[in-house]
Amino acid sequence: MSRRPVSVAYKAIDDTARTIVLLGTGLALLSIALAWMIARNAAAPVRAMTQAARQLGRDPSMTMLPRFGGSQEFFELSASLRSLLRRIGVAEQESHRVETQSTLIERRFHAEIATLQRVADTDPLTGLLNRRSFLMHADDAMLHHDRHQRSLSILVADIDVFKRVNDSYGHPAGDEVIRQVGFLLEAGVRSSDKVARFGGEEFVILLRDADEDQARHLAERMRLAVRAAVIHHAGLEIRVTISIGGAVISTNDTDIQALIERADRALYDAKSQGRDCVSMDSRDTASPIQNVA
Ligand code: GH3
Ligand code: MG
Ligand code: MG
Repeated sequence: MSRRPVSVAYKAIDDTARTIVLLGTGLALLSIALAWMIARNAAAPVRAMTQAARQLGRDPSMTMLPRFGGSQEFFELSASLRSLLRRIGVAEQESHRVETQSTLIERRFHAEIATLQRVADTDPLTGLLNRRSFLMHADDAMLHHDRHQRSLSILVADIDVFKRVNDSYGHPAGDEVIRQVGFLLEAGVRSSDKVARFGGEEFVILLRDADEDQARHLAERMRLAVRAAVIHHAGLEIRVTISIGGAVISTNDTDIQALIERADRALYDAKSQGRDCVSMDSRDTASPIQNVA
């Protein structure tokens, strides 16, 4: 029996072992490369989508994710996200529409309230304050007077023998006379003063910080302005005069109504004195308030 030398026998074994090691190493390297490629391919679209989503959050002009390719699962995920964003976009548009509409409704509502308030506060014939809103201002002025001891006066003006205007020229002409007299009275006072039509051809004027001399002076000026005015209506030229009664607040006046009543009594005096004049109530000025203006 012939025997191979031991070295020959071991060489064959070595060769086989080397081949196995080489093949194993090659296979391992191939697997690593393959795994790296697969991982790269799978991660790339995820990275792209993450970047697009980040940009979507930062850039308000961007409203949608782009389409992404890749595996079926990834494609479906991207499609779902796009559909979700589309729904969010629609909801955003709807909420913007509702917000715009409610802002418009609110503005219209405020304008309507302001119009109603104006109508409720105004005499429709002259555009002056009506009795209700005048009394609100007057109460306010009374409170101011109580707190700060500022002077306060009331004038009551009435068109003389106005019935004759209606009888001679007709009711519409009478209305025009009332309008023009109201306009002249308002033009004659300061912006802090208030003029109201209390009804008919009677006007009430609230003067802040006016003592008796100032109130009388203002009343005289208004009387002369009305006396000098020519009121035109339907080709007619109408002239009227007014009588004015006035009173300055005193410590005996418990409320604004008491002051208006004293001015009204003074108006009665002016009418008794022959009309077209000013009369101040001085019967209750035992403790007049000094004007501190
Ligand atoms: P006096 O000098 O004493 O104030 O006399 P008068 O004629 O002005 O007063 P009187 O109270 O007798 O008449 C007022 C008239 O005003 C009677 C009424 O028909 C009229 N009148 C009241 N309101 C209006 C109105 O809104 N428009 C018109 N055109 N007339 C009115
Ligand atoms: Mg009158
Ligand atoms: Mg009257």
